[in-house]
Amino acid sequence: MMSSRKLLEQLVAFNTTSRESNLALIDFVRRYLTGLGVECELIHNAERSKANLYARLGPSGSGGVMLSGHSDVVPVDGQNWSVPPFVLTEREGKLYGRGTADMKGFIACMLAAVPYFLTQPLAQPLHLAISYDEEVGCLGVRTLLDALSQRPEKPDICLIGEPTELQPVLGHKGKLGVRCEVQGAACHSAYAPQGVNAIEYAAKLIQKLTVIGQRLAAPEHQDARFDPPFTTVQTGVIQGGRALNIVPAECTFDFEVRTLPQDDAQEVAEELEHYAQRELLPQMHAVNSDAAIRFYPISGYPGLYTAAQSAAARLLAHLTGSSAFSTVAFGTEGGLFHQAGIPSVVCGPGSMAQGHKADEFITVEQLDACDALLRRLAIWMCQKA
Ligand SMILES: [Zn+2]
Repeated sequence: MMSSRKLLEQLVAFNTTSRESNLALIDFVRRYLTGLGVECELIHNAERSKANLYARLGPSGSGGVMLSGHSDVVPVDGQNWSVPPFVLTEREGKLYGRGTADMKGFIACMLAAVPYFLTQPLAQPLHLAISYDEEVGCLGVRTLLDALSQRPEKPDICLIGEPTELQPVLGHKGKLGVRCEVQGAACHSAYAPQGVNAIEYAAKLIQKLTVIGQRLAAPEHQDARFDPPFTTVQTGVIQGGRALNIVPAECTFDFEVRTLPQDDAQEVAEELEHYAQRELLPQMHAVNSDAAIRFYPISGYPGLYTAAQSAAARLLAHLTGSSAFSTVAFGTEGGLFHQAGIPSVVCGPGSMAQGHKADEFITVEQLDACDALLRRLAIWMCQKA
């Protein structure tokens, strides 16, 4: 039997930065599980350069618990590491390496727990899911969920092992990223009124977003479970203009909306589109009929807002020994599982305070605690009819 630590050493050694293939890691996991007598299913991307892995053990039928993690990690480019990022290095009770916290630590514990689950008289199935391309917009898991939705038997609960220091987390905000392209009309800046200044119209749109954001932040809209306790709207990238003496014909900006459960990011985007249609385009067309404003979704995932009274939350309280439920600021695949009809919660070893940074680490203590948590899950799954 391999310990979670030994497995983590193996997993970290695969460079699964999202732009790389994850097939070597998936093949390692497949061999490991097959060696234990657990059948695996791979769900590839269209290019067959990456795959999700799905496996189940225990009794047949529907229901049961799914453990879920992503195999990809964020790049180490430009980061100042004091240890080799793809070699597990131990120092004073901490295990360093890319992905140790986010989230190969959890996957290692999940795999290490399989032999224990196999010895238990489980009353319901255990499902395992490992995805690709989570760090670039929760892309891979969507094909996994499509494949799962074809089957009648769905898990009752999904545990997403993103790093929460094993604290029980029931949710996070949803996110929508949108690109806006403003097409104006160029001319010599001495005759500025004869052109359509794309930067100035983009500025009006961005100002409108600021006003919408302020309205959504009003006290009556707030939800104290989240930090910040309101939906946020922000513009993060802008590009436009070539020279000061040319009225700019193009300006592109990207904005994002991070939503509370009661707010709809799509509505924010639609409000901006209506403003563009009704207020700005008539002014632009009065000068040049080719002027345009276009919007494209560029990223996003649904929020996760599992109720504290749900069966998933009760199980999580049992496993962690705490019903001090909280939320996290980062997104997870949980919103997509939830949308697919699988109630989801987030709980995993390590801290996102170390995620995505140089010298990412997980403590040995967190890894051990997660091993113990998964054994409690196995026992719980035997008791439940
Ligand atoms: Zn993650």
